[in-house]
Amino acid sequence: MHNLFSSCTCGFAHMKRLQRRLWMRLFPSLRLYRCAQCGRMQLAPRRAVEQAIATRLAQEATLRRPAEPSPNAALGGHIEEAEASPALRR
Ligand SMILES: [Zn+2]
Repeated sequence: MHNLFSSCTCGFAHMKRLQRRLWMRLFPSLRLYRCAQCGRMQLAPRRAVEQAIATRLAQEATLRRPAEPSPNAALGGHIEEAEASPALRR
């Protein structure tokens, strides 16, 4: 059995939460995860994993919506309706 305290190199963004064993409750800040990329099981800080997953989801949401106005446009409080018009899409 490999060392659960060493994490893989894929980052925390693809972790799937698993049920902890009883002894793992000795480490209240750690949760048991399995990496969806390489399949490795590891103990990781819950906050770090949640942060990484939230960041990944935000990035994916941005990539899925290329028509989304840029943060600068949103700050201006002014969205060009013409950009979202179907007539301009091909
Ligand atoms: Zn991994």
